[in-house]
Amino acid sequence: MGKPTGFIEYERVLPKDRDPIERVKDWDEFHEHMPEEALREQGSRCMDCGIPFCHLGDVVSDGDKGSGCPVNNLIPEWNDLVYRGLWREALERLHKTNNFPEFTGRVCPAPCEGACVVGINALPVTIKNVECAIVDKGFAEGWIVPEPPAKRTGKSVAIVGSGPSGLACAAQLNRAGHQVTVYERADRIGGLLMYGIPNMKLEKEAVVQRRVDLMAAEGVKFVTSTEIGVDMPATQLSEENDAVVLCGGATKANDLPIEGREFTGIHFAMDFLRANTKSLLDSEHEDGNYISAKDKHVIVIGGGDTGTDCCGTSLRHGCKTLAQFEIMPRPPEERADNNPWPQWPNVYKLDYGQEEAKARFGDDPRTYLIMTQKFVADDEGNVKELHTVNIEWDKDENGRFVPKPIEGSEKIWPADLVLLAMGFRGPEDAAIDQLGVERDERSNAKAEHEKFATSVEGIFAAGDMRRGQSLVVWAINEGRGAAREVDRYLMGGTHLP
Ligand SMILES: Cc1cc2nc3c(=O)[nH]c(=O)nc-3n(C[C@H](O)[C@H](O)[C@H](O)COP(=O)(O)OP(=O)(O)OC[C@H]3O[C@@H](n4cnc5c(N)ncnc54)[C@H](O)[C@@H]3O)c2cc1C
Ligand code: SF4
Repeated sequence: MGKPTGFIEYERVLPKDRDPIERVKDWDEFHEHMPEEALREQGSRCMDCGIPFCHLGDVVSDGDKGSGCPVNNLIPEWNDLVYRGLWREALERLHKTNNFPEFTGRVCPAPCEGACVVGINALPVTIKNVECAIVDKGFAEGWIVPEPPAKRTGKSVAIVGSGPSGLACAAQLNRAGHQVTVYERADRIGGLLMYGIPNMKLEKEAVVQRRVDLMAAEGVKFVTSTEIGVDMPATQLSEENDAVVLCGGATKANDLPIEGREFTGIHFAMDFLRANTKSLLDSEHEDGNYISAKDKHVIVIGGGDTGTDCCGTSLRHGCKTLAQFEIMPRPPEERADNNPWPQWPNVYKLDYGQEEAKARFGDDPRTYLIMTQKFVADDEGNVKELHTVNIEWDKDENGRFVPKPIEGSEKIWPADLVLLAMGFRGPEDAAIDQLGVERDERSNAKAEHEKFATSVEGIFAAGDMRRGQSLVVWAINEGRGAAREVDRYLMGGTHLP
């Protein structure tokens, strides 16, 4: 700890994001960088508290997001190194635990900051921003170069899916000397990093593809436009390789089977987001192969990350109006009594898409405690209205909380484009079924966290395909863990962390 009084002397400061009114005119990242001196001050706010809850991971469990950093980043160490100006050493520490800090430094919701000890009675250290600055500097300085393994083991591993879990698993197994091939059904590598999270949050060519190119230069093979279980039997992978890791994500979306669901203009959020990014990357939207929100009344159903990305994307298309529905209550401004530090703080947040909507239309687009009852269409079957009712949560006869409509609160909303962003219900079936892998009660590939072995010998599962839709940082945690277990399975022991 270089500066014992840093957390007393300096306030938490983050770089200003680009002006929301300006940034919705393009698809460039909205993050700005901070000058080095200011970053060093922020690093010095880390108090080296002795028991760094920030890097402990899932110690105080709060559902999915846990508490602290799921990849156990050595946060106090690199905060101190940044304060001292030892950036290259900070980068080495960061890469010890995280293969892709340039992804988490941009898109992670930062459970580490919710568990920061400074955050008990002041604002936490800007951990995520320091992480991003370290790796961005590493790339800018040319310190991050391909590092192929010194020798090969002669073993081969196939990975199904190229999201953050598949990529982390591939990077680690390749490092251990195994020949890794990653199969991806999309035409580009990256999973939801490429075709889920939009470009303004995570640049595709400059950030995602840059890492994929590095991995290819290190010897990882990538096969795109190949759906395992459809274009190639999944059993072929297990026959031709020493191990297989299933990292196919949890991409089956929840639907809203109510009156009028069949009308034109009602889409799953992922169909909207995927087509938008593909068309942007293929042709800067010149090919028109995307669902446009231009001049439309847009309603996004679902208040999570996916819904936020639909808001940001619709605004960039030039939507006429924008509303976002959330069935749960508005979170409190401050932590509730049952949500103490170091848990993930479940508090109200104006995320980038809502901030942009507020700048454009004057208000946060979200309405809470609202339920959609039916869609209404014009004579040609195009959706034109959405009917809602406000709800309250009440217990049913079995003691379970259920939404109860509030009489008289019915409302009609104009809608030409409805985006369903209500979460995901599990992985696709083909690869899991062909391999005969057992499922858990949520239909995910069944495998224990930290072990990652499925019911079929030599087949492992990691990421959203094993744990259900989660976070990039959890996918990296799982990919790394699965690589360690595969290495142990293949070699009888492992040096992978
Ligand atoms: C719109 C959206 C925004 C999000 N935003 C954030 C965020 O800001 N921060 C955050 O931390 N998390 C975010 N998440 C969650 C995060 O992206 C996921 O938890 C994470 O990407 C999961 O990684 P994964 O590798 O397990 O799976 P995925 O990223 O889903 O990748 C799985 C890949 O496997 C491929 N695949 C599936 N089946 C097959 C097959 N049979 N053959 C070949 N390929 C196959 C799929 O095409 C896909 O590319 C977001 C999710 C969505 C949907
Ligand atoms: S990966 Fe996420 S939780 Fe871990 S240090 Fe970075 S921002 Fe924090």
